[in-house]
Amino acid sequence: MHQLTLAEIARGLADKKFSSEELTKVLLARIAQLDPQLNSFISLTEDLALQQAKAADARRANGESGALLGAPIAHKDLFCTQGIRTSCGSKMLDNFKAPYDATVVAKLAAAGAVTLGKTNMDEFAMGSANESSYYGAVKNPWNLEYVPGGSSGGSAAAVAARLLPAATGTDTGGSIRQPAALTNLTGLKPTYGRVSRWGMIAYASSLDQGGPLARTAEDCAILLQGMAGFDPQDSTSIDEPVPDYSAGLNGSLQGLRIGVPKEYFSAGLDPRIADLVMASVEELKKLGAVIKEISLPNMQHAIPAYYVIAPAEASSNLSRFDGVRFGYRCEDPKNLEDLYKRSRGEGFGPEVQRRIMVGAYALSAGYYDAYYLKAQKIRRLIKNDFMAAFNEVDIILGPTTPNPAWKLGAKNNDPVAAYLEDVYTITANLAGLPGLSMPAGFVDGLPVGVQLLAPYFQEGRLLNVAHQYQQNTDWHTRTPTGF
Ligand code: GLN
Repeated sequence: MHQLTLAEIARGLADKKFSSEELTKVLLARIAQLDPQLNSFISLTEDLALQQAKAADARRANGESGALLGAPIAHKDLFCTQGIRTSCGSKMLDNFKAPYDATVVAKLAAAGAVTLGKTNMDEFAMGSANESSYYGAVKNPWNLEYVPGGSSGGSAAAVAARLLPAATGTDTGGSIRQPAALTNLTGLKPTYGRVSRWGMIAYASSLDQGGPLARTAEDCAILLQGMAGFDPQDSTSIDEPVPDYSAGLNGSLQGLRIGVPKEYFSAGLDPRIADLVMASVEELKKLGAVIKEISLPNMQHAIPAYYVIAPAEASSNLSRFDGVRFGYRCEDPKNLEDLYKRSRGEGFGPEVQRRIMVGAYALSAGYYDAYYLKAQKIRRLIKNDFMAAFNEVDIILGPTTPNPAWKLGAKNNDPVAAYLEDVYTITANLAGLPGLSMPAGFVDGLPVGVQLLAPYFQEGRLLNVAHQYQQNTDWHTRTPTGF
């Protein structure tokens, strides 16, 4: 039963082949058996899951239907869940039980989804290896000595290991797409404003977006359908109708114009990944797509701009964790300053502290113009590059990451080496565009992802292209041995 996709589960539940309660019990047992190897969960919510599963079964018995009714999922542990620990992967929030549900959590619960637990993540979503979590590193099910990517690494590892069919993630600079690529999943970062950020613990507010991680584009469509939509509680949420994503999956790709940026094939890209990217292009050509070389001339400025803007926003967002209002408080503070210093010094891990310092520096009076303002100008240039490119093409295609997964610990002493892995993903966040990563092959037994980017609110087109690709390839069906 654990091999079923969300779409297959929906059919099985509708045909009464099994109940949500039966399925939930199978998956909870599988998590108990296998997750100790992976460490993909921070908290399990067995009681809630069984209660939600029974309620979903009762709703079906009453004639209700819906693709998510009774479907087991998990939430990245930065979505607030009422009465349940919401740690954000940090000692700072180890004792924090959210007083309310995030909009995404509430919407999915209302659609009948069953929450199995809260997944592991890089501390405050800062990282691309899931090694900065207070709860320990997550292992990649394709090779337990390798990282699963991050920051949504727990969600990715759990879905890749077939512990459950799908999970939520968030993506500030690649944290859905990059772990999807490194674990052979499909992951989608929606347009900024498509999915509510209310109740999503903020890292960099102008970049953060929640989205689905699943094995197939078809399943991402189902989960996104339950997550997307206008939310008056989030002032950056956009009041744009949500199309029927599943209905659009079978559109023809005849004449689809795919742009491949020449800057993507620079020295940093593993040539074996470049070959797999070109093989995916050939596959899409067979389906009727036409390929065009394009240029994104400001791409090389994206990493420096992102690593100023994201830490700047983080330094501001994380100032609320002061030992007074939320989470961790140090023992026996001598005075207020000591309380602040030690609560933050002891509650935050080294990567979070590094980013707060970088961000505070970039925003300080003498350096604001030189760093923050400059980074914002680069951000606009990157957006303009995309706007120009989308005048010529419908979709942009390239690698999701320059390299496959790396060994646990390999980049721990060199944060910049890890930052460079984000080169293909962060531009979509800087521009606010939707992006999807889909399985496209293997290098040394490790999965490789291809990234598709589309104009604003064209998530449906991304899902359509990925679904058509997946109807004609079988990379996404490969299962890691032992799982
Ligand atoms: N790796 C990037 C960072 O560390 C992106 C993280 C994310 O998308 N949350 O900031």
